[in-house]
Amino acid sequence: MISESMKEQVAKSSVIRQMFEEGARLAQLYGAENVFDFSLGNPNVEAPASINESIIDIVNNTESVKLHGYMNNMGFPEVRKKIAESLNKKYNTHYDEINICMSVGAAGGMNAILKTILNPGEEVVVLAPYFGEYNGYVANHNGKLVTVPPNPPTFRPDTKALDKHITANTKAVIINTPNNPTGVIYSEDDIKKIAEVLKKKSEEYNTDIALVSDEPYRELAFEGIKVPFIPDYYDNTFICYSYSKSLSLPGERIGYIVISDKMKDADEVASALSVATRTLGFVNAPAIMQMVVAANLDAQVNLEAYDKNRKDLYGGLSDLGFECVYPEGAFYLFMKSPVESDKEFCEIAKRENILIVPGSAFGCPGYVRIAYCVSNDTIRNSMSGFEKISKSLGLS
Ligand code: PLP
Repeated sequence: MISESMKEQVAKSSVIRQMFEEGARLAQLYGAENVFDFSLGNPNVEAPASINESIIDIVNNTESVKLHGYMNNMGFPEVRKKIAESLNKKYNTHYDEINICMSVGAAGGMNAILKTILNPGEEVVVLAPYFGEYNGYVANHNGKLVTVPPNPPTFRPDTKALDKHITANTKAVIINTPNNPTGVIYSEDDIKKIAEVLKKKSEEYNTDIALVSDEPYRELAFEGIKVPFIPDYYDNTFICYSYSKSLSLPGERIGYIVISDKMKDADEVASALSVATRTLGFVNAPAIMQMVVAANLDAQVNLEAYDKNRKDLYGGLSDLGFECVYPEGAFYLFMKSPVESDKEFCEIAKRENILIVPGSAFGCPGYVRIAYCVSNDTIRNSMSGFEKISKSLGLS
């Protein structure tokens, strides 16, 4: 019954999700407080209180046919206008509702973008380590994923390597900053160099290369580090934004796409996105949540909780002799595996009831990802397990 391509996707199906299931199993066996599940990027920080208040207010005060009805496939025009105006204020842009398409989270947004731009066999370049779900998204639209190798130990984008991986068949480059899984934030200089490569290559091959900036973690930047606004540097840019992490709403499936007003044929691209959203079966992003996010454009989650976790985890693991990438944003810590195989190290950690994800799930073997969107107790209580591992491997 199952298609060949789906069989392949199931076989490669997310290691992260499998870990999550394993966490639930161990919690039943040993008690939740004795299992340290760092596997999934599921925010533990509460959504702002204003979210629930807005839901009640909107449900009580909106005409039912509007609240529950079909709408423009790109979303409610007034919601898109409000988001455009808020971006204009923040980034000095000149967007209007035509530049915003509401999406079913970043995952829905990425799929709508790829459906809009990809011809079969065209290449989509990603920089390892990268979010493993991109494999499925690109396969969904018959594209070919091309991976630029990782650049340890800093994991800043290697633009010379990027240059070498772009061909006449490249349709898009996906970047993700703040990055999952490294926590690295690309600097303005990094973005300028990426833009230069793309401009040079588009001219050389006489092609249009889209830069797709996947930004669920834009708001999760620590120490005041600035996340560059990508359309300022490259015209053919899509931003794929999500409220899953920035407002702790992953189950609500809400985000938006920005189609840069400087993009070639921007209006036609917007119309095509609208059709893609419909034919993919999303039809439109969830109606109530569109209104909710529009009423909460300045709301924020408690970043301090993530920041404390970040410091405690990075400090604790570094003191124990583990080699960690300094996390600047998102809520992930990327750590060098102290044994050759990252998968073996995850098994060693599991013996201490610590669940982490091998870097090979992100195209970067030899490292592991630790998601610190957990309670601070989980971090503190996991340290004795990490200490045991460190001692047994002779790191401390
Ligand atoms: N892109 C990246 C880099 C992610 O880490 C995630 C979720 O973890 C997504 C996209 C999907 O996010 P959403 O819940 O908005 O679909």
